[in-house]
Amino acid sequence: MKIIMLGAPGAGKGTQAKMIAEKYGLPHVSTGDIFRANLKNGTELGKQAKVYMDQGQLVPDELTVKILLDRVAQEDCKNGYVLDGFPRTIPQAEVLDSELTKLGEKIDWAIDVEVPDENIIDRMGGRRACVKCGATYHVKYNPPKTEGVCDACGDKLILRDDDAPETVKKRLAVYHEQTQPLIEYYEKKGALKEVDGTLPMNEVFDAICAILG
Ligand code: AMP
Repeated sequence: MKIIMLGAPGAGKGTQAKMIAEKYGLPHVSTGDIFRANLKNGTELGKQAKVYMDQGQLVPDELTVKILLDRVAQEDCKNGYVLDGFPRTIPQAEVLDSELTKLGEKIDWAIDVEVPDENIIDRMGGRRACVKCGATYHVKYNPPKTEGVCDACGDKLILRDDDAPETVKKRLAVYHEQTQPLIEYYEKKGALKEVDGTLPMNEVFDAICAILG
């Protein structure tokens, strides 16, 4: 099963992607996590991506598409995956589709987690991310057991530079301009399913499970 998560930054698609991955035994593939891991390890890719990420802009397709295709070509992705944060532009979706077509495969579901912009701005200010494993929390809606400490790996939680208020506004503008058109793209392909992302996390997950079966 190949699944794409759509939705604005902060809609909760990363959290849902992880829950889907666990329940259905699929790898969770997040391009944002891949960039952050590269940044942490000081790779050239990480340095190049940071310039865009810190400004709330998209990393150019030339860089992004290659890392994604390399990742999904790995053995653990053979039976499917949950993509989180990719595709984010129509050209990215087209490259993915053409690669899948070559293999006689396709995206089964594109799940759009819908949340209005006002809610997003409120959510992102309270978001905290683990510097080590990338797990995300929210000070109000999904707090870690111990303040500032990751439940999963015990490392430190931070407000990511790309979650700072001005950057969030920029990211939302970029989302509406470049990523939202993907909703229509996957609707035309008959793969689109929409869920109400303003509901509590577990109810959003129940709605997704009802779709995936
Ligand atoms: P995320 O964790 O998915 O919100 O991604 C964080 C940042 O990484 C984004 O704001 C972009 O700068 C960059 N990024 C992640 N995925 C992509 C993508 N598919 N295309 C371009 N940039 C991306």
